[in-house]
Amino acid sequence: MKKKLDMLEELQEVDQLIDTLKASQSGLQAELSGINQGVDAAREEVEAIEARLAQCEAEKSGMESTHAAELENISRSETNMKEIKTNKEFQAIGREITAARKQLTDIEEQLLQKISLIEELSSELAAKKGRCAELTENSAQRIVEKQAEIDKIQSDINADIERRESVAKEMPASLVKKFTILREQRRGRALAIARDGYCMGCNMHLPPQLYNNLYKYEELLTCPHCQRILILKLQQQ
Ligand SMILES: [Zn+2]
Repeated sequence: MKKKLDMLEELQEVDQLIDTLKASQSGLQAELSGINQGVDAAREEVEAIEARLAQCEAEKSGMESTHAAELENISRSETNMKEIKTNKEFQAIGREITAARKQLTDIEEQLLQKISLIEELSSELAAKKGRCAELTENSAQRIVEKQAEIDKIQSDINADIERRESVAKEMPASLVKKFTILREQRRGRALAIARDGYCMGCNMHLPPQLYNNLYKYEELLTCPHCQRILILKLQQQ
């Protein structure tokens, strides 16, 4: 029985090691995805500005075509004017030309605004691209390092799982099963130290007869309060 208890303790120890390793591994994984998200966000910002810039360029060429068409209208009207016979017609075309010139001025103003917006966006794009490239480069190194740490921990976990299997193989399957279920129910601790008549797992007083039986190592004894398997330890460790 003493041997079984020792093996249970070893099982608990290796399980806790695995838990700790898994916790630090998932911490690293969170850091890793944080780094990746930062890079993705920077890339998305660049893409958003590129899209706006493309839209502005398209609007600008639309305006330029309208501008050219308007210029052509004016010169056509001016040519027509030369062949005009009546004063009334002359005035009508004159009004058309005035309206077209006004239109032209409006388009030119809008074009200037669009061009300055394009310049603004272009320099913003250059800055964001630079920052994105810098971030990507810095992150690449960090991603490699984090991944290496994660892989290292995984190989430690694998080694511990192997060790757990080899310990468990030496034990009765029913005992391993009982231990594993208890561990799940008792927040990772299936065993509790018994000392000075107390269960250290739940800090409750153990019935004296039960406590005395622990010295005999005849059977597996569990705490009546927290159901953990009791391990007698006289000295504080
Ligand atoms: Zn207990």
